[in-house]
Amino acid sequence: MSVKNEPGERILICEDEPNIISFLKAELEYEGYHIETALDGSEAISKFLPEFFPNNSYSLVLLDIMLPVRNGLEVLREIRKTSNIPVIILTARKEVYDKVAFLAAGADDYITKPFDTSELIARVKRHIQRAKTHYSASQEKLTIEPDAYRAKILGNDIGLTKTEFEILCFLHENIGKVKTRDEIISAVFGDFYGESNIVDANVKNIRAKIARHTSARVIETVRGKGYLCV
Ligand code: CA
Repeated sequence: MSVKNEPGERILICEDEPNIISFLKAELEYEGYHIETALDGSEAISKFLPEFFPNNSYSLVLLDIMLPVRNGLEVLREIRKTSNIPVIILTARKEVYDKVAFLAAGADDYITKPFDTSELIARVKRHIQRAKTHYSASQEKLTIEPDAYRAKILGNDIGLTKTEFEILCFLHENIGKVKTRDEIISAVFGDFYGESNIVDANVKNIRAKIARHTSARVIETVRGKGYLCV
């Protein structure tokens, strides 16, 4: 009996050095991935536009920091306006100081050149797998009904208060992105409201109510930063 392979996952490589592109392309194609390439930052951004790829669904982006036209950080910020796709930064050793800015802008990981092939492949696989798990954790199980001010998990009404609902809604709209307590307060209460522990108290309640129906984690705490919906 023949086994039909799933269509390969699509990976976008944003890199301007031909040798690195051909190396990455060969290694990842060998693993069964489909590869798109962008040679500068502007091309990378354009490859995220719906005109280019109507049911846009890359599984992962490998993003060089030093790119012509638009640099890697600009590309990452553009991607994050519309997508929570895993992004792995490719850095040269001397660019180490840039890592923090990239992680803050929403990068998931970084790999230092020259690459260790098995490490690169392992990280790519792990991030693609994790993104799928996250997708199923909240996007498949959590339903937001904005007009009714109701959120359901696995079809069950979670029974949130208005404030809890608005916090969950805000985090869910920004799924995969860390939101600080201040950002949550500003989105839900407006800028004048200054008590940041109000967020913690509400998140605690949301989690407890969700936990009545599932052990899946929907809101994660990012120590020293804030919360994210996964
Ligand atoms: Ca480069």
